[in-house]
Amino acid sequence: MTVLQTITRPGTKHRSVDTIIVGGGPSGLAVVGNLLEQRPRDRMLWVDPSFKAGRVGDQYREVPSNTKVGLFINFATTIAPFRQILESSQEPDAVSALRKLPQDQGCELNYAADLCLMLTEGVFRHFNNVEQYYGKLKAATFDQQTSLWTAVLNDDEIISAPKLVLCTGSSPVTNLLPVLATLSKRPQMIHLDTALKPSLLPKSIESDATVAVIGASHSAILVLMTLYELTKTTHPNLRIKWFTRYKELRYAKCMDGWILYDNTGLKGQVAQWARENLNAEVFDKSPVSKVISRFWTAPDVEEQHYQAELPSCTHVIQAIGYKRDALPALGLATSTGARPEPLTIQHDDLTGRFFTKSAGDSTGLRYIPGLFGAGIAFPERVTDPMGNVEHAVGFWKFMRFLKQAVPEWVGTSKIV
Ligand SMILES: Cc1cc2nc3c(=O)[nH]c(=O)nc-3n(C[C@H](O)[C@H](O)[C@H](O)COP(=O)(O)OP(=O)(O)OC[C@H]3O[C@@H](n4cnc5c(N)ncnc54)[C@H](O)[C@@H]3O)c2cc1C
Repeated sequence: MTVLQTITRPGTKHRSVDTIIVGGGPSGLAVVGNLLEQRPRDRMLWVDPSFKAGRVGDQYREVPSNTKVGLFINFATTIAPFRQILESSQEPDAVSALRKLPQDQGCELNYAADLCLMLTEGVFRHFNNVEQYYGKLKAATFDQQTSLWTAVLNDDEIISAPKLVLCTGSSPVTNLLPVLATLSKRPQMIHLDTALKPSLLPKSIESDATVAVIGASHSAILVLMTLYELTKTTHPNLRIKWFTRYKELRYAKCMDGWILYDNTGLKGQVAQWARENLNAEVFDKSPVSKVISRFWTAPDVEEQHYQAELPSCTHVIQAIGYKRDALPALGLATSTGARPEPLTIQHDDLTGRFFTKSAGDSTGLRYIPGLFGAGIAFPERVTDPMGNVEHAVGFWKFMRFLKQAVPEWVGTSKIV
């Protein structure tokens, strides 16, 4: 039986709420907070397997933040339901811990994860119209006759709602680069999640390992920093081969009231270290060049560098981006009551809604009623004053977008 077929299975528990929110990371939390602010009496079902602050809580606690402490405080204080939670909290708590730090600098994401946990617990303690469901939302079908989403939860419980919000997150891309697949002697792959944990990474490599790091993103530079630190302590014979497509690293830059490359440029501690050690003009004189060898992998020489250098590496860490996690199976109920048709969705990154196009439909794209997305899986598209287009990712950016979008979402439930 397919997941979508279980929706029609007789004898399962079936009830309804106003909104189902899928995902208990920072963006799911921000959606719940904004819904509570806009529709304080609505009944909500909030679904997550663990409610441990998403990937920030699970995987990134040891990562230095690329945003300033003050923005995490803004996240916690900008909407009334969260302020209500903070007012009743007893210090020391996650917010007082953040307030003690310099507000215009970064911090370990540990602090941000604890803030999410505190607010998540507060939501369930203060607002009994928000129900907590530990588990996965497996599938959801939209019925155009009733304008309702019918969702299947972990234990095959069925619940319907006019609104369904997907905050399901993204994870590191783990597909092997094609060149790695062709090597007869392949270095051992270290997952980026492991590489981003300074407490775990040294246990995954021998003290004389040679580690290839592929990429030039914030995550890649973080990994280089961690590996370099190991050469000064437990792993003096460790050597690193860094493969980057870019001769120049991209940095975020404060402009007049806005930030150039706010979402794609290096920031904070990582940016400072990269400027001091990796920039083309300083690299050769920097102590890091004694242990890190750098290879420009421009498209015409990429294959050649990898073929020549990777076979002598014992390990490889790919920091080549993040991709949306698998979504629940989405479907459209058919008028005959037969098995739902699979629903192909396209995210509208300006509004957080989704549209679809049925086969043979001459009317073009149509909005899907009551379906919304937010967070790193469905970020807002932003254009800066110089015309650069980026997707806005981060606690405060999710919150800023949702403060605008949620009032629109709760007033729109018909096909446009
Ligand atoms: C290395 C790194 C550093 C970052 N540093 C910062 C920073 O310094 N500052 C900042 O503001 N942002 C930072 N971010 C960006 C962002 O804040 C985080 O990526 C954040 O985790 C995204 O939150 P999210 O809620 O969208 O997704 P996630 O945190 O991934 O949460 C998604 C949740 O949904 C759940 N889920 C998925 N599918 C289902 C389902 N079918 N049913 C039920 N639950 C489901 C998952 O289990 C998970 O708990 C960083 C990101 C990365 C990758």
